[in-house]
Amino acid sequence: MAICSFCNRNAILYQPYSCKLFCGKHLSDLTEKRVGSTMRKYGMVRNRSRIGVAVSGGKDSTTMLYIMHRLLRKDRSRTLIAITVDEGLRGYRDKSIRCARALCSKLGVEHHIYRFSEYAVKMDTLMRHPKPDPCTYCGVFRRWVLNLAAREHGLDAIAIGHNLDDVVQTFQMNIMRNEPLRIARYTPNGGIATCDEFVPRIRPLLTVPEREVMAYALHNGIPFHNGECPYAGLALRNPVREFINSMEAKYPGTKFRMLNTYLSLIDRLPAGAAQPIRKCKLCSEPSSSETCKRCELLSYAKCKGAKWSVAKKNA
Ligand SMILES: [Zn+2]
Ligand SMILES: [Zn+2]
Repeated sequence: MAICSFCNRNAILYQPYSCKLFCGKHLSDLTEKRVGSTMRKYGMVRNRSRIGVAVSGGKDSTTMLYIMHRLLRKDRSRTLIAITVDEGLRGYRDKSIRCARALCSKLGVEHHIYRFSEYAVKMDTLMRHPKPDPCTYCGVFRRWVLNLAAREHGLDAIAIGHNLDDVVQTFQMNIMRNEPLRIARYTPNGGIATCDEFVPRIRPLLTVPEREVMAYALHNGIPFHNGECPYAGLALRNPVREFINSMEAKYPGTKFRMLNTYLSLIDRLPAGAAQPIRKCKLCSEPSSSETCKRCELLSYAKCKGAKWSVAKKNA
């Protein structure tokens, strides 16, 4: 059994990019330190008192809530509010919602659930009329619902559990799809809101690799659901993840170098590089064009003969 590089305990993780071994205690210390300094560096909670945490019940979002709660527990000026979006994925999201509920009640964090069935269309229903990339629909609907939920609860920002791997995969995908404006919009502290309706999104797990999030969650006994989305197999993210992971295995530190490239790129962008945000003419939610993506996708699917009825609320 390998021993921690910092004490005499058994190691639970080897970090190839630093050539160090970590026991649960030292990995937890490092992870919490990283999250804390990311939050400070980008002013993620500065001047913000009601912080939303998007909790799906997977390892990333539950770990994020657990660490944020730990870091902010003595801070009486800030309140954490957990928001779960139920995309309507049977056998997957129902299980993870139970984990989200369990963690919120253990930590004493207020928890609200928002359902696709009320604001868009359930993913299971949508997928009966298969679309090339379900993640596009799901992502658009999820962001729309999260923003609405954030405003309904008066949140100043909403934390998204994107870890280092997610962030560099997104960056790589933006390059592959030629989406420079998306790179400009995907800032660590949520950027400058150009529309009152838009609630900034923050990413406290920015510098934590996925496997370290997993090790942290297991070591700290965090309840999470480890299933895979039933439609994940169709996503572009999969080959991108495989490619980046194979590069990381050959050249440890690749993910951090990609992250640094992305961070220095957005640092150098002129103010206003991201598209201005305005209100959607159909639903009044924030949008970068006249009609928001959610309304556009819903009417596109309708044109293609989708049989389901559109959104009960705010249609
Ligand atoms: Zn140790
Ligand atoms: Zn709209």
